[in-house]
Amino acid sequence: MLLSIDNMDTYYGLSHILFGVSLQVNQGECVCLMGRNGAGKTTTFRSIMGLATPKSGTIHYQKMAIHGKTAHDIAHLGIGFVPEERAIFPDLTVWENLDVARKPSVDGKTRWTLERVYDFFPQLAQRHNQLGGTLSGGEQQMLTIARTMMGNPHLLLLDEPSEGLAPLIVKSIGKLIRQIRNEGITILLAEQNTHFALDLSDRVYIIDDGRIRYSGTAQEVKAHPDIIREYLAVHQ
Ligand code: ATP
Repeated sequence: MLLSIDNMDTYYGLSHILFGVSLQVNQGECVCLMGRNGAGKTTTFRSIMGLATPKSGTIHYQKMAIHGKTAHDIAHLGIGFVPEERAIFPDLTVWENLDVARKPSVDGKTRWTLERVYDFFPQLAQRHNQLGGTLSGGEQQMLTIARTMMGNPHLLLLDEPSEGLAPLIVKSIGKLIRQIRNEGITILLAEQNTHFALDLSDRVYIIDDGRIRYSGTAQEVKAHPDIIREYLAVHQ
């Protein structure tokens, strides 16, 4: 097992947000954490990354306890985080954005060079000298993912990568995620877009009100639309 969260409770100040969250990701899998707005997906990711501190429970990465470690140390263990809000520098060019994100992997090898990233994201190669802030929403999302790849992660956390993008762009982001996964990178995805998530993932966890309500294979969820209706329909 690559990542294991056991019985985690996380608070923001006095607000209790996550209740006994447990979740596992195996090497090579694409796992999706699904849930509606405010369900606790981002807080789960922030807890993994050391950006929010769980009050109880444990998080293990490659069998090593990482709860309580700093965000800096966790990133250096090979976990890449693509946050929901596009994390680019608007006043730097595309290549400068990529260059500043350069980081060797934990084993010291550099799998993702600028050339390799450009092969993977040809649209960004075409925008090499363009300022980040002038890119379209879809290109900014690609740049955010590409920047994280420059850190040579083994595990990639993607927080709602499809959010706010037109259907055609969502499709190309999906294709990209599949290619990244084919490179042997393990993926934990947070999504509200059911179709997108089920298409990409092997297994699914559904979170609601800070609690994991369901876990199963993407196939199972596809075969039982009532699961989606129960946990993912927007509250009236
Ligand atoms: P979204 O897609 O809206 O980001 P989410 O599933 O990622 O949804 P979270 O962002 O984890 O949900 O939010 C879970 C709960 O925590 C929500 O009720 C939210 O209002 C609350 N919350 C988020 N950030 C903070 C914060 N900094 N301080 C207090 N409460 C917060």
